[in-house]
Amino acid sequence: MTDTQYMAPQTLDEAVSAYAAGGDSARILAGGTDLLVQMGAGMVQPGLIVDIKKIDELNSITENADGSFVVGAGVSGAVLAEHPTFGKVWPGVLEALNLIGSTQVQGRASAGGNLCNGSPAGDAVPAMIAADTTVTIQGPNGRREMAVKDVPAGPGRTNLKAGEILVSFTLPPRPSGSGDAYLRMIPRTEMDIAVVGVGVSLTLENGTCTAARVGLGAVAPTVLLVEDAAKELIGSTLDDAALNAAAAACSAACNPIDDKRGTIAYRTKVAGVLLKRSTIIAADRAKGV
Ligand SMILES: Cc1cc2nc3c(=O)[nH]c(=O)nc-3n(C[C@H](O)[C@H](O)[C@H](O)COP(=O)(O)OP(=O)(O)OC[C@H]3O[C@@H](n4cnc5c(N)ncnc54)[C@H](O)[C@@H]3O)c2cc1C
Repeated sequence: MTDTQYMAPQTLDEAVSAYAAGGDSARILAGGTDLLVQMGAGMVQPGLIVDIKKIDELNSITENADGSFVVGAGVSGAVLAEHPTFGKVWPGVLEALNLIGSTQVQGRASAGGNLCNGSPAGDAVPAMIAADTTVTIQGPNGRREMAVKDVPAGPGRTNLKAGEILVSFTLPPRPSGSGDAYLRMIPRTEMDIAVVGVGVSLTLENGTCTAARVGLGAVAPTVLLVEDAAKELIGSTLDDAALNAAAAACSAACNPIDDKRGTIAYRTKVAGVLLKRSTIIAADRAKGV
C-alpha cells in the first residue's frame, strides 16, 4: 500500500502543476463528499490529493454587469444559497444543488465535484445543462471552455484531459420573463440518488415560450440535453398539447438501467411526468407567480 500525499495550494497554477505531475493516481479534493466516501470504500487510493478549497478563483461567486454569473467549481451549495441574487436569477440551479445530501453535505459539496464525479444521477448537472452553463477548465496546456453537457463521458468518467482542473461555471445573462426549475424522483423522501432528474429553463414573451432547454438525468449513461423536448415547448403557450409532446420526447430520450430503485418502464414514464411539472414551475417563476 502506498502513502497518500496531501497538498492545499493557494494558487491555481500551483494546483495544476502538482496535479499534472501527480499522474493517474492524483485526485482533486473539493468538498470530498464523493472522494472521501470512495476512498473509505477502497474504490480509489490516490497517490496525491490536491485540495482546491484554498484557491480564491475556485471558491468565489461573481455577478457580472451583463447579468451573467461565474461560480467557482469549489463553491458549496450552502455558500451559493447565501448569495444575495444568485437564487433569484437561477432558482432551479440552486434547488438542484441544495437537494444534494443533508445540511452537513451541502456545507461541503460543490457543483464542480458533482459534475466531475461523473455520476449520471448527479443532481446539479441537469439544471446546469438546462441553464446553458459553460465551464472553464485549466490544465498544463492552458485554459479552455466547454459546455457542461459535453463534460460527462460515461458513468464515473469526464472529458477533462489529464491534469485538467475545473475552474468555474459561467451562467449566461437572463432575459426578463425567464425561469428555471429542477425536480427529481427518489424512492425515499431524502438522502437518496435520483431515479430521474429533470431541469427546465425557459423564457416567456406575452405568454409564448420563446426559448427552452431541458436537462435529463439518471436515465442514460450521461446526463442529457433533450433538444426534442425543448422544441415542443418553444413557440407554444405551454398548453397541454405542448406539455404532452415534450413529455413524450423526454421519455423517448431515456435509455435507463433497470435496478432496485426503478424499472426501465417506471423511469421512462416518470421522466415525462417530471418534465411537465418542472416546466410548469419554471413558467410560474418566469411570470413571477
Ligand atoms: C450522504 C451523501 C448524500 C449524497 N446525496 C447526493 C444527492 O442527493 N445528489 C447528488 O447528486 N449527489 C449526492 N451525493 C454525492 C456528492 O455529495 C455530490 O456528488 C457532490 O456534489 C460532490 O461534490 P464534492 O465537492 O464533495 O466533490 P469531491 O468529493 O471533492 O469530488 C468528486 C470528484 O470530482 C473530482 N473533482 C472535484 N472537483 C474537481 C475540479 N474542480 N476539477 C476536477 N476534478 C474535480 C474529484 O477528484 C472526485 O473525483 C451524496 C453524498 C453523500 C456522502
